[in-house]
Amino acid sequence: MDKIEIYNTMENGKLAVGVKVKDKKASLADLLESWQLLCEDPDLFKVYAEGNYAPCRGCLHNCCDTAYVIPDLISFKKMAQYLNCSCKEFISQYFHPDKTAFGLLRLKPNPCVFLKDNICTIYPVRSLICRFYVCAYLLGDTEQLIYSIAITGIAATCLFAEEEGLICKDPAVGMSSFDMMFKKLIAEYRDSSNVELFMRAREYSEIPLLPFL
Ligand code: SF4
Ligand code: SF4
Repeated sequence: MDKIEIYNTMENGKLAVGVKVKDKKASLADLLESWQLLCEDPDLFKVYAEGNYAPCRGCLHNCCDTAYVIPDLISFKKMAQYLNCSCKEFISQYFHPDKTAFGLLRLKPNPCVFLKDNICTIYPVRSLICRFYVCAYLLGDTEQLIYSIAITGIAATCLFAEEEGLICKDPAVGMSSFDMMFKKLIAEYRDSSNVELFMRAREYSEIPLLPFL
C-alpha cells in the first residue's frame, strides 16, 4: 500500500490537488516522493505551464526566475555540503546580503542564483519551498499542510543560523512586505515543537508527517 495518496477533487468550483496520508508512519521523504509526480505530470492543469498542461522540466515561464527561497534546515546543510563550502561561505556567496543583514536567509534571486540555462544546478538538494511549489490548484488542507512543513523547516534554519552566529536576530528597517511576511511567519513557527524535528534530522526520511497532520 502506498503511504501517500495524491488525488484530485473539486473545491470552490475548481479541480484541485489533495494529499491523503494513508500510513501513520509516513515520513516527509514519502510525501516528497509522491509530490514529485505532480511536477512531471503532463495531465495536471498548471497555471504557468505552456498550454497549461506540461511537465515542469523545460518550462519557459520558470518560477525559479522570481522565487523567494529560504531553504529549510535539511536542504541548507545539504546545499552547503554539495557546494563543498562551510555554512558561513555558503551564506556569503549565495544569499542576498541585504536580507541576511536582517536575519533572513534568502537565496540571491531574479533569477535564482542556482538557475543556469533554465535548469536548477542543485536539483537533488533543493529546498522544500522549491520541491513543493507547483502552479496547480491545491485543496486548502493540502496547501496548509505543505506550507506548515516548509515554514517549520525555514524556522529551523533561522534558529540554527542564529545559534551558530551566522545571522543576527535584531529587527531591521527597510524590509519589503515579503520580508516582513517571512519574518512574521518565522516568529510564529520558531517555538513549535516540530522545529526540533528539523534541528535533529539529517534526512527528510527522519521527519514523521504525523505531527504536522
Ligand atoms: S511550477 Fe514552475 S516550472 Fe512548473 S509549470 Fe509552474 S512555473 Fe513552470
Ligand atoms: S534552488 Fe533550484 S529549484 Fe529552487 S528556485 Fe533555485 S533554481 Fe529553482
